Amino acid sequence: IEVKDVTFSYDANLDVLHNLNLSVESGETIAIVGPSGSGKSTLAKGLAAALGYIYIDTGALYRAIGLFAARHGVSAESPEDVVPLLPLMDLQMRLENGGNAVYLDGVRLGEEIRTSSASHYASQVSKVPEVRAFLLETQRNIAKTNNGIMDGRDIGTVILPDAQVKLFMVASPEARAKRRFEELKARGIETSLEEVLADMKWRDNNDS
Ligand code: C5P
Repeated sequence: IEVKDVTFSYDANLDVLHNLNLSVESGETIAIVGPSGSGKSTLAKGLAAALGYIYIDTGALYRAIGLFAARHGVSAESPEDVVPLLPLMDLQMRLENGGNAVYLDGVRLGEEIRTSSASHYASQVSKVPEVRAFLLETQRNIAKTNNGIMDGRDIGTVILPDAQVKLFMVASPEARAKRRFEELKARGIETSLEEVLADMKWRDNNDS
């Protein structure tokens, strides 16, 4: 891949991607890393569309485990209690219409994994080593069988250390909170910018 010097603005539309000179061999993977709200999935979706790749949203898997934990009465403050329940979990990521969907117990997950409480649970369960190990093979298998663009914290180091291209996204907590707030608003999830910013700072610290 040859990527020309490009300044990527979140306010710009993704036409900027046509200024990148991208050509990728089949079977290659692109890893996008960075904190929440930095634009990983926006960039990943744009690149996937431009390159004919599949966008693999690994955060959705952690969010699904968080939801599963909540449904089984596991407290967000003792996320390790989800570990003995993991073998009972029917979690699948299926490729649909060029994107991916996560199914929990046969039911496709939607907006319920995007709420502030779901983000909190996801961040908490993602700290548990057994949870990360549980998702390792799932993520690698999806990448192995598809030309994929994956985003997430450990994609470039743990899941796909041999990815052909690794991108690291950065942005201030305020810019990230604003993006996330607009995104939630568009999805009809009620919240305030202050609340989103506070959640974002909490998650930065917790995820690190
Ligand atoms: O990317 P997203 O905000 O959907 O991720 C939700 C949470 O899942 C993150 O806050 C992080 O705790 C966890 N996560 C992770 N590793 C990944 C993707 C997400 O730990 N590869």
